[in-house]
Amino acid sequence: AYHGDTAGCMAVCDPEEGMHSLFAGFLPQHYFAPAPTASFEAGEDEVQADLDALRGVLGAHHEEIGALLMEPLLQAAGGLNMISPHYLRGARALCDEFDVLLIFDEVATGFGRTGKMFAADHADVTPDIMVLSKGLTGGYLGHAATLATDRVHDAFIGDSELHAFMHGPTFMGNPLACRVALESLAVFEEDDYLGRIQALNDVLCEELLDDAELRAHPDVADVRVLGATAVIEVHDAETLEGVAGFARRQGVWLRPFGHWLYTMPAYITSSNDLRRITDVMKHWFTARHVPSTSQ
Ligand SMILES: *Cc1c(COP(=O)(O)O)cnc(C)c1O
Repeated sequence: AYHGDTAGCMAVCDPEEGMHSLFAGFLPQHYFAPAPTASFEAGEDEVQADLDALRGVLGAHHEEIGALLMEPLLQAAGGLNMISPHYLRGARALCDEFDVLLIFDEVATGFGRTGKMFAADHADVTPDIMVLSKGLTGGYLGHAATLATDRVHDAFIGDSELHAFMHGPTFMGNPLACRVALESLAVFEEDDYLGRIQALNDVLCEELLDDAELRAHPDVADVRVLGATAVIEVHDAETLEGVAGFARRQGVWLRPFGHWLYTMPAYITSSNDLRRITDVMKHWFTARHVPSTSQ
């Protein structure tokens, strides 16, 4: 998982494959459950092994665990992993059973990225705490929000210094950022962004998921699409060396990392522009296997 670059956030990111190993000795230690292995399409039975693994960690350590934190449905910078809604439902049930709070980091998934307003909506699950940012302002101004259920909120709201949660940065509740967020959300509704996201999803499915040649390419390990997100995962990270320059020369900006060549297009992207993006993603693989001619 990936949850951010400040100290508390780094401590809950992937401890081994994340980018924060430099800080390992400095960060507080947490328990990590094994990453879910079942895909987005997995049925209830198929997520059972993943949930058993989660139960193992919660069962052994729930007395010391305050909350289970996850990126629901879609791990973004953690590798574009797409997780079954059944896993979210199972995680909710386990958190209730062990009296552990459930936190959904919807910074990447919130506001339509997975095809519904929130990833939690796919599973009809309510987390105890939900973290929102990126899509809240559409990137026009930095802003974030932490939402909590009444049960959590009531536990720290009050006038007593011993009870109230007196903790926050200087520019918290910034009025301009809040205004931008409200405007961004208004545009989201007025311009039917969920409809646009569905249209983007159709193109991504057609151009990437349904491309048998791409999926059968020897360098390609997997192709995944969820909402307005698509990724081509490769077997060997070296396969993607040079792809950013290759794309830029064709007027497309891609930022691959690790084993993942992905796109999370802006919701205003037209179908034609999106096809330009997916064409470049595909051409990287087809062009690679054309024998090079003398130049
Ligand atoms: C980008 C991201 C963050 C970090 O947000 P910052 O504003 O950089 O702190 C946290 N969680 C997820 C899932 C993200 O994608």
